[in-house]
Amino acid sequence: MIKSTLELGLTNRLQDFDGMVFHSICDPARNLASVFKRNFPDQWVEYIHFPQNLISDSSVDYLESEYRRILERLSELTGKEVTNDDVNQSIALYNRARSLMRDLYAFRRQNPQVLTTKELYTLVRAGHILTVEEHIKLLEHAQRLVQTKPGHERDHIRVILVGSFCEQPSLDLINAMEEAGLDILDDDFALGRRWFTEDVPADRDGVRSLAEAYRDSSVTSSVKHDSRRHKGEELVAQVKSAKADAVIVSVPKFCEPGLFDYAIYRRALLEANIPHLFVEYEEKMWLFDKVQTEVETFVESLLLD
Ligand code: SF4
Repeated sequence: MIKSTLELGLTNRLQDFDGMVFHSICDPARNLASVFKRNFPDQWVEYIHFPQNLISDSSVDYLESEYRRILERLSELTGKEVTNDDVNQSIALYNRARSLMRDLYAFRRQNPQVLTTKELYTLVRAGHILTVEEHIKLLEHAQRLVQTKPGHERDHIRVILVGSFCEQPSLDLINAMEEAGLDILDDDFALGRRWFTEDVPADRDGVRSLAEAYRDSSVTSSVKHDSRRHKGEELVAQVKSAKADAVIVSVPKFCEPGLFDYAIYRRALLEANIPHLFVEYEEKMWLFDKVQTEVETFVESLLLD
């Protein structure tokens, strides 16, 4: 993710952007803001620090002040003052998009043979390049189509996939894993678009609501530090509630947050007697035979068990 973002800058493919906002999710991401400032001195660059201690009473106040600082800088950049109504309107629109994605995720969990992960991922990822209004229309259209889409029963195993929350695998790799025999019931692809697990209130102080939602109603992630929740226990509960057969821990090469969490997942899965397969990938990988063979072997070992 870091390499490809820098590469986009160095090959002049970020020139259409008015600015770049970086964040503190890991050491490489933390340093990327200064790397950008040094290499692209004319680029508008901002940096947001997320709270590291969500059990502190001050975490919401702190995050609210960070959001307000960024909003102020964005207002300077665009020359437009952002009112509370503007923020609430935006929250309401993104709530709608997130709710549609939640519905599609719920549908895929029940019908993985009808809505494949390759298709669902494409629908979610489209939100990165469409306006939120266009994305809502696309998701609504998809929601209607899947109701009558035919599916074919397959000899697959049912899995939960975790670890791909930041750098994204290629669509071909996702396809290769499905083709190798996985019905993916839940995943953490493109997690930022689905960050909040319920609607954020859109009728109050919008910035405050977003800070509260970050603390109280957002997903578990390797880059969010919330000592109130145990990632391993949550994964086991997720497997049980989805009636999954196994877990695929699919982590980008050299991703420290993902690899650190693998230790937590591994222990929890072993204790709960849930089989798992660890898969490493790179963003620009184009040969999938090795991963496909590993997944096929894993699937066969479970089907023949
Ligand atoms: S893929 Fe992992 S190491 Fe790379 S920026 Fe994302 S969280 Fe950081």
